[in-house]
Amino acid sequence: MKIYLNGNLVPKEQATVSVFDHGLLYGDGVFEGIRFYSGRVFRLDDHIDRLYRSARAIALSIPLDRDAMSQAVLDTIRANGMSDGYVRLVVTRGEGSLGLSPKSCPTPTVFVIAAGITLYPEEMYRNGLKLVTCSTRRIAHGALSPMVKSLNYLNNIMAKIEAEQAGAGEGLMLNEQGYVAECTGDNVFIVRDGRLVTPPIAAGALAGVTRAVVFELARQLGIDIREEDITRYDIYTADECFLTGTAAEIIPVVELDSRPIDDGKPGPLTLRLTELFRELTRTTGTPIG
Ligand code: PMP
Repeated sequence: MKIYLNGNLVPKEQATVSVFDHGLLYGDGVFEGIRFYSGRVFRLDDHIDRLYRSARAIALSIPLDRDAMSQAVLDTIRANGMSDGYVRLVVTRGEGSLGLSPKSCPTPTVFVIAAGITLYPEEMYRNGLKLVTCSTRRIAHGALSPMVKSLNYLNNIMAKIEAEQAGAGEGLMLNEQGYVAECTGDNVFIVRDGRLVTPPIAAGALAGVTRAVVFELARQLGIDIREEDITRYDIYTADECFLTGTAAEIIPVVELDSRPIDDGKPGPLTLRLTELFRELTRTTGTPIG
């Protein structure tokens, strides 16, 4: 396996970062998770845009321009001879001294990993997954913008542990006001009276790339789609529910907090969107070359 590290493609064993890297010491950095299917990278520009926005928001200046970063992603995939898989792109503050200040970190660390990923078993795509509400709240805007895809995922990890301990596939995270924000690594949607509803970004949802694809598909299908604050009640009483994410794609949710959603089976609109999404992943994207 070859890893892109600061401009070079190196064997995995040589792809190491310093113990003084602030990405490791403080979670000071940003990242992206990107999928490639059948030799094409899905929504590469959207991921690159979000990476640069995340970096800007934390005052981290990425030492490559967008084209060079996209090229690094493509080069890494090509160097590993893969046509389907998952890319993890990480930019950290870089090596510095002990102490919080980024001033001691002159050069950000950039690395790209191309690998496989299976987030949920195939059975969950057919039968749906169970959600539980986590007591850990989504990070508040006043602490760190939840729109930044930073290396600081500790509260999402705490929520994931809760979900796993409860035997659920994913954990639902609320914001400080008690409205639904998203799940630990996925955005959430419900279907109500033939309409799609998802929490607004301001509720603490990450501006998911897959979420945006669902907006496009809904428009194509002529289905009304809204960003509205929702509560757990809205999910308990929804006609359908599903999650979206780069790794998860679109996955049906059939239960929240032991309450079946509608008849407890994946809904027809969810299945239709999944089909259309899969078609898009097969037929669009930036060629790996
Ligand atoms: N929310 C969180 C917290 C995430 O980590 C992710 C995965 N990146 C998502 C939502 C889904 O976003 P995307 O569709 O861009 O992968």
